[in-house]
Amino acid sequence: MDFQVSARKWRPQKFSELIGQEHIVRTLSNAIELDRVSHAFLFSGTRGVGKTTTARILARVLNCEKGPTIEPCGACSLCIEIRQGHCIDVQEIDGASNNGVAEVRDLIDNVQYATSSARYKVYIIDEVHMLSKSAFNALLKTLEEPPPRVIFIFATTELIKIPETILSRCQCFEFKPLSNVQITKQLELICGQEGIQIDAKGLEEISKVGAGSMRDAQSLLDQVIAYSGKKIDTDSVESVLGIVGGTTLELFAERLIKREPAELIALVQEVANQGKDLSLFCRSMMEYLRNLLMVKVSRNPENLLNTNTCDLKVLKKQAEGFHNDELQQMFTILSRAETEMKRSSLGQMVFEMAILRLTETRPFKNIDDLIDKINQAEVQPARPPVAPVPQRASAAPPAQSTPSVAQPDNGSFDSSTWDKFRREVSRKRPAFEHYLDKCQVIELNEKEIQLMFSDSFTLEMVESPENVQFIKDMVKLASGHEVQVVLKLGEARPTPSRPSTNTQEKKNLNDENKGRQKTESEIIQDALDIFGGTVVK
Ligand SMILES: [Zn+2]
Repeated sequence: MDFQVSARKWRPQKFSELIGQEHIVRTLSNAIELDRVSHAFLFSGTRGVGKTTTARILARVLNCEKGPTIEPCGACSLCIEIRQGHCIDVQEIDGASNNGVAEVRDLIDNVQYATSSARYKVYIIDEVHMLSKSAFNALLKTLEEPPPRVIFIFATTELIKIPETILSRCQCFEFKPLSNVQITKQLELICGQEGIQIDAKGLEEISKVGAGSMRDAQSLLDQVIAYSGKKIDTDSVESVLGIVGGTTLELFAERLIKREPAELIALVQEVANQGKDLSLFCRSMMEYLRNLLMVKVSRNPENLLNTNTCDLKVLKKQAEGFHNDELQQMFTILSRAETEMKRSSLGQMVFEMAILRLTETRPFKNIDDLIDKINQAEVQPARPPVAPVPQRASAAPPAQSTPSVAQPDNGSFDSSTWDKFRREVSRKRPAFEHYLDKCQVIELNEKEIQLMFSDSFTLEMVESPENVQFIKDMVKLASGHEVQVVLKLGEARPTPSRPSTNTQEKKNLNDENKGRQKTESEIIQDALDIFGGTVVK
């Protein structure tokens, strides 16, 4: 490329050009105007948020020939020398490579001499947390009794490593990570000035990967320009940065709603094969889940979404497929996975295992409801049939009236048909069971299977032609019958239930249950059915 949109070229030269650190700019400006400038500053914050830039601006603000002024002229010899790094009175020292006590002693000796041409001697020590303990100690005395017109500006990404004795002698400023919006705006400005065509979505993707650092975002923009030239589309941004686009995220969420583990893993592999960064994919997915949750908790989610390019209509539709607490569980699973992926050499596998856990999340159940259910279970017979059992006219003894039990899978329907059906479903498509847990069986006989769902979203998912066919196929496997599938919406019982059957066997079971109290183990079994757990002890 014949030009670079480098961080250096676009480095702010005045306080008014600094982005995102208004609280610091205001305090420093006031101090200059009131002529109450501290002799030692500590700037802390993550990389690329403007610490060193602010230090250099401060050096010019103090030393400009027209100053001290919060608007240094930029044209006088001192302004120019400082900008070019040639001013002998403004020293920039890298704490990482000059971290010994000898270097600090040299610096302190130098501090005693008067300035050559500038008003103030300014020492900017970058990465100051790298100084050794004895180097810090050597600095202390100078900080306690600094010579007049000497100013120290320390910068660090690791505030926690700075000794308390140093902190207490400095005016401390915490630089905030920049927001995506702030970074996007600046990139937009740069692209406008450099004549680079890029759409809002592409800029936003770059800002997100920059993760709060303007410098990182600008060097990413450099990379994208080096790849695409002056006309940049979102696809090339995504492929240069190794990020997964919105369409893939939507597809991922869709498969998550349908609880399709195999399809989700296939998608992860596809993304990995495209050379995309799975950690970034994981982060994007977390962001997507967060947006889904915002859509659920707010009537006007537009302001809460940390993106302005995703399709709100799609988000709203997909949000119906999740419970709030499921989204929170999923977020936690991915958040842990992201940390683990960084530590592991098997990042992809760690991610895949996390994806499988995502498909196993279930909504938490309300504890009061559960207690109610257990209490009810103590007075009612277990698993009552959904529809009333019609009275049989025949007075024949039970043993003779249930011949079908002996020949299952051969055109018979009894209480075990539903269980067989569930077994077939679980064998063929385990994820589909999730839907069956949410429905109530109204009818299951030679002619039809009738299922009732309490929420429209689940009903909509099950209603698809291939799902209806799947149900038909599974009933056929379980009973040998071709049946009609009838799906409806209604007030369903929350626990999975068995269908009504007309067998005498079932009636006998109920008669038997009515007259007696439940045993302890039956109550525990009821609790397990409700909680969906297993006994471990
Ligand atoms: Zn000047």
